[in-house]
Amino acid sequence: MTNFLAALALLSSLSYLAPPQAPQPDGAGVRSGSLPKSWLLGGPKCAEIPEFQVHEYNEDFYILRQSGCSNYEKPFLFLLFGKDRALLLDTGAGKTDVARVVNKVIVQWLARTKRESIELVVAHTHAHSDHTGGDEQFKNLPHTILVSPNLKSVQEFFGIKSWPQEIVQYDLGNRILDVIPIPGHHATSIAIYDRQTAILFTGDSLYPGRLYVADQVEFIHSIQRLVDFTQNKIVTHILGNHIENTRIPYLDYPVGTIYQPDEHSLELGRGELLELNQALHTMNGRIVRMAFRDFTIWPK
Ligand SMILES: [Zn+2]
Ligand SMILES: [Zn+2]
Repeated sequence: MTNFLAALALLSSLSYLAPPQAPQPDGAGVRSGSLPKSWLLGGPKCAEIPEFQVHEYNEDFYILRQSGCSNYEKPFLFLLFGKDRALLLDTGAGKTDVARVVNKVIVQWLARTKRESIELVVAHTHAHSDHTGGDEQFKNLPHTILVSPNLKSVQEFFGIKSWPQEIVQYDLGNRILDVIPIPGHHATSIAIYDRQTAILFTGDSLYPGRLYVADQVEFIHSIQRLVDFTQNKIVTHILGNHIENTRIPYLDYPVGTIYQPDEHSLELGRGELLELNQALHTMNGRIVRMAFRDFTIWPK
């Protein structure tokens, strides 16, 4: 009996510690796609690059990157297609032509899938102005729902009753997204896990750059929530909303940099999430600025 209990305890501790994994290195059964080796660089030749670079990860997932010439924040926007609707995450910084760019992608997608129309839901990783700049343009478009970037609207739309503990599902039609509240960088911050590609979208809460922490207690809980959620899940990429680090470890570009010829890749992995979580725990409730290889913790 004692041996049995010991074995049981060992088993349960092992399953608790088991990292997300696939039995074989065969792509883990998720839908794959490709990321660019580098993104179009804003400047020094601004006339040569479009306001938004559109990258097709696969036929049903597009990444838009705003150029540094358009806005130094150079945010990333994400467009995912399901059977019933498409989701646009964020609308960019400042005044741009974003609705036209998004519509062009949708028109191409409709042609390819031989469909007449699809509903577009416009939501946000969080409410900072560098991610909501184009909202107005989507307000009165046909087949379009704009989720206002405030906590009440976000909770109501996704059906999150107990914020921020509750993780809910949102279905685009044969494409389930998990919506995970992660306040801390901003009160409205959410992460999204796309089960189809196993990509985790983390907004400004984790990306290769300066992770600005507005609410320390919330941030610590939110990062732990992401670690717990991804336990035993495949995570192919963690995609945040900016690139501020260079490819040289521990080195970032100063705020306001337009031209980043040697910028870090956008994608991170779950290892960086664990590293962030461990660092926050080590700081024991008092977050201080600290640079890591691929990001910097930056209390506001
Ligand atoms: Zn932000
Ligand atoms: Zn931002």
